[in-house]
Amino acid sequence: TVRTRFAPSPTGLLHIGNARAALFNFLFARHHGGQFLLRIEDTDKERSTQHAVDVIFDGLAWMGITPDEPAVFQSTRQARHTEVAQELLAKGLAYKCYCTAEELKAMREEAIADGRPPRYNGYWRDRDVSEAPEGAPFAVRLKAPREGETVIHDLVQGEVRVANAEMDDLIILRSDGTPTYLHAVVVDDHDMAISHVIRGDDHLTNTFRQAMIYRAMGWDLPHFAHLPLIHGPDGAKLSKRHGAQSVVDFREEGYLPEALCNYLLRLGWGHGDAEILSRDEQIRLFDLDGVGRSPSRMDYVKLAHLNGVYMREADDARLTDDVMARLTDRPGITTDEAVRQRVLTLMPGLKERAKLLTDLADSAAFLGRSLPFDYDAKALKQLSADGKHVLRGVAQALALVEPFKAEQIDAALRGYAEEHAIKLGQVAQPLRAAMTGSTVSPGIDLTLEALGRDEVLARIGAAIA
Ligand code: GLU
Repeated sequence: TVRTRFAPSPTGLLHIGNARAALFNFLFARHHGGQFLLRIEDTDKERSTQHAVDVIFDGLAWMGITPDEPAVFQSTRQARHTEVAQELLAKGLAYKCYCTAEELKAMREEAIADGRPPRYNGYWRDRDVSEAPEGAPFAVRLKAPREGETVIHDLVQGEVRVANAEMDDLIILRSDGTPTYLHAVVVDDHDMAISHVIRGDDHLTNTFRQAMIYRAMGWDLPHFAHLPLIHGPDGAKLSKRHGAQSVVDFREEGYLPEALCNYLLRLGWGHGDAEILSRDEQIRLFDLDGVGRSPSRMDYVKLAHLNGVYMREADDARLTDDVMARLTDRPGITTDEAVRQRVLTLMPGLKERAKLLTDLADSAAFLGRSLPFDYDAKALKQLSADGKHVLRGVAQALALVEPFKAEQIDAALRGYAEEHAIKLGQVAQPLRAAMTGSTVSPGIDLTLEALGRDEVLARIGAAIA
């Protein structure tokens, strides 16, 4: 059976490359009717934080990527990592290395001076431990094969190989007794019965070393699939200057999780020309043979466009909740139930033009403004003597509209314009200025309906005062 895992180190804000790896692992497991697991690799106590753990849980839940078993915390498994290291020692497949930090440093410097790669020279590999000073600390190193090659049949990269002579004897237990990352990953993947390791191709070189641990233990290797990294739009390594990088950033900047997931899936994976895929379709279609081999480039413009498409499809109440949360604590904006109702009513109009939830919140903010409020320069222009004159007349017409709905409002505004031989725009623009303090809003009829008659008349009153 297929069992995949996502194994983040809780040291950051869930990088978008990692989030994509999580998505691929999840979809692959679901596609094959298997399980998707989560392992928090929190062995680096210095760099791991509870906040980063929370971010991983929240981020995955937000993206709808749900593990099938409780998360495994790697730090809880140290005794088992040590046990495996002891077993390798007992079998003579690993050995104790008593080199001090100074000796290792000297070894590296000597190698560099000789023009050799700075690798451990195997000093303690065949040496008798009786030569070690009494009670001296030691690291445990794997007795790595020196002849032959290590070959990995990667499901994305194809066959990759390295000469064993290129690799030195890796440390599996440090001199303080803690397992190394490479060792812990192998033991955990084996014990969790992981069938497919799908991760970023920055881990490809680790894979050769991990393969040696599997072989030493006589364990079957899982299948490996190393995903090309995500680069910035200019082809350079994705960094802050390109824009959002972490799931937290994308969430704050106003992307919907389903749009982000759809985008990340299509970035580096393809199935014909399918662009917009529901989660069910993603699960049905996803497989590793659709994953490309070259790095993908993040295209923020395309992502924002896709987000707009998803927003227009999204449920209005859900978008309203998000907007209200974004408006909370904005100076000068009330976010009570009455305002929420206005936002909900206007949502079909608001979401037509927005690409991001942040745009949506900005464009909805006027609905929560409390009187009196400021008018921007363009709005002030609309509130000239002529504009105010129109507003006075229109206020009387609006007082009589029944019911106070877009259709009836529209008819009243058109009637007023016709009666006074002016264009509809000459009625709508001063109204828009009075309602929003700016000159942009969805259709004026929808806008007035959302505000409700009392608020509309109050805002007109304030604008003509
Ligand atoms: N903890 C590693 C990382 O966050 C991933 C390990 C793996 O997927 O094997 O980069």
